Amino acid sequence: MSGTQVIEQARTQLAHAAKLLNLDPGLHEVLSRIKRSVIVNFPVVMDDGSVKVFEGYRCQHNTSRGPTKGGIRYHQDVDLEETGALAMWMTWKCAVADIPYGGAKGGVRVDTKKLSKRELEKLTRRFVSEINMIIGERSDIPAPDIGTNPEVMAWIMDTISMQVGYTVPGVVTGKPIPLGGSLGRVEATGRGVIVAAHEACKDLNMDFAGKRVVVQGFGNVGSIAALLGERDGAVIVGVSDARGAIHNPKGLPIEKLFHEFSGRDGGLAEYKECDQISNEELLELDCDILIPAAIAQQLTAQNADKVKAKLIVEGANGPTTNEADNIFSDRGVLVVPDILANAGGVIVSYFEWVQDLQNFFWNESRVNEELESIMKRAYDGVRQSRDTYKTDMRTAAMIIGVKRVADATLTRGIFP
Ligand code: GLU
Repeated sequence: MSGTQVIEQARTQLAHAAKLLNLDPGLHEVLSRIKRSVIVNFPVVMDDGSVKVFEGYRCQHNTSRGPTKGGIRYHQDVDLEETGALAMWMTWKCAVADIPYGGAKGGVRVDTKKLSKRELEKLTRRFVSEINMIIGERSDIPAPDIGTNPEVMAWIMDTISMQVGYTVPGVVTGKPIPLGGSLGRVEATGRGVIVAAHEACKDLNMDFAGKRVVVQGFGNVGSIAALLGERDGAVIVGVSDARGAIHNPKGLPIEKLFHEFSGRDGGLAEYKECDQISNEELLELDCDILIPAAIAQQLTAQNADKVKAKLIVEGANGPTTNEADNIFSDRGVLVVPDILANAGGVIVSYFEWVQDLQNFFWNESRVNEELESIMKRAYDGVRQSRDTYKTDMRTAAMIIGVKRVADATLTRGIFP
């Protein structure tokens, strides 16, 4: 997978929606570009005294509906094109959820497994200092993504606060609770994925309880989706992490895997009462619901025909290529797209930002109730758009997202 393929995937999705919306070609061009990108190369003194230079990015796709919002990813495959594509998807995601943001994304090309905690902190503080001219609580608000977590968000908040001379909690979301984080934010993306799965089951006239679910990825999104899915009565028959995949047709003990195996060096593969399988086999397992919650471009023209699930709920960003989308659509597999299914994270990030700006904090049940209500409203809107345009769920969601952003751009007018 390369970033060029990922931005191509995002642009093809946009072109498809633009055609159905009869979008003005100039406006289509505006929306297909990334408004602002910053590339930084910066040094970090490693624990052994050597100096290493890292490359990082912050891309802001569109600001028509508000400040830009999106995570910071630490991964060895991060590049400018992929970061731009992820920023574009954030724009549509925020618009589909109807929260007042444009999309952004940031990233550093680094394998965090090779860094000590001290090195990770120094890398974060230096990276944030390099991009501080374009982030801010009123302009662009980062959050966690692959390879980053609440602790990294705390360092970001502290770095910006030290530079301006006072505490700025609203500059980043996904922070630890004592620093102005929101209750429910850590679980929000996985929780939203399960709300989307329930809505999709209603759509397909089937019960969620008792369904066999496969989850690819056991990070923040996959693990919480698996836990909450199990709690709601689904049988999680397969899960995976970066080291491998495991399978048990009778169901895997997700609570146990979460608490006892997911943090270990050997990962889930250390759990023995199951079959060890490959990532390819995992995606093709016999199951009802597949939740890809790892990285982009996992469901492709090569395996889409072999996927057995009737319902795919995208926890990751961009896990399905456009070719695979066409195959699923022909086969009648319902795909709940990333920009709808995994919007729970940014929705609760929005709640966190609102709480920070107001210095007034909500209890967890309020967070979860409002999250559920926005997810359901968004799902319903996309379902209606699908029925109106007689199309698939991704295109239906893109139509809503692109239209909201296009309308905002036109209503504001093009400056000057
Ligand atoms: N990184 C997450 C995403 O891809 C969350 C972004 C945010 O909370 O701003 O949606």
